[in-house]
Amino acid sequence: MGAAEEYRYNRLTWAEMNDAIAMQKVILLPTGSTEQHGRHLPLDVDTFLAESVCLEVGRRAPDKVLVLPPIAYGLNLHHIDFPGTIHIEPETFIAFCVNITKSVAYHGFKKILVVNGHGSNQPLIDLVARKTTLGSDSLCAAVHYINLAIEAFKTVQDTPVIAHADEFETSLYLHLAPERVQMEHAGADNDVMGKWLSSDSTANYAVRFNDYWGRWTNLGVHGDATTATAEKGRVILDAAVTGILGIVDEWRDWPIAPRQDQHTGPVQGGIRW
Ligand SMILES: [Zn+2]
Repeated sequence: MGAAEEYRYNRLTWAEMNDAIAMQKVILLPTGSTEQHGRHLPLDVDTFLAESVCLEVGRRAPDKVLVLPPIAYGLNLHHIDFPGTIHIEPETFIAFCVNITKSVAYHGFKKILVVNGHGSNQPLIDLVARKTTLGSDSLCAAVHYINLAIEAFKTVQDTPVIAHADEFETSLYLHLAPERVQMEHAGADNDVMGKWLSSDSTANYAVRFNDYWGRWTNLGVHGDATTATAEKGRVILDAAVTGILGIVDEWRDWPIAPRQDQHTGPVQGGIRW
């Protein structure tokens, strides 16, 4: 199996990697977490779901993408009251991810896409993408896969909240690996909601704020997992994969224009930011 058929980054040899670079495959970096997801789901939810979406993209378009090993840890201190959760400081997360994206940029890959599965990573992956684009000759973008599936999910959705260990995530996990979901322990819970603020700030709040989850839930769920089904998960997976395939095609064609310097005098090109 060569670079045109293999879509898993680290299954290639360095010699095959030269072929992948020549093909200008888009690099996908799944980012997740090791974080409590209620009594019914394992701690790997965000990592497993984001990586599964990326691997399915690879299966459908092996000649266009390479999927990096996932980042299995994220910003999680707000879940630390639940046993097992691992927290990475945001500065560490950003620096670690940018080291990875700059490495693939160094080798010659021009287009990189971070595919996130953990909501609290969102502001961090936005910065990872920006720091990579501004600090290399490659382009890096970031997407939260859930955003690509929300419209499709609305056609099958029974409960209103899309947040955490909820109908959405539980459905997708049920579709991918039902043997690891303990539906007999599935439950529902809500955050604290004011007029302007909510303690999980997932939607429709102008002021964002995330409290320690140990202050407002004993279950570790935000939303309602009891209505999750594998069929809803299939709808989610298909929409997310279709969305990323569209992004990949557009990203591959995206031009990298030469920068036009408007200075009339010399600039200090040696400065390292
Ligand atoms: Zn999650």
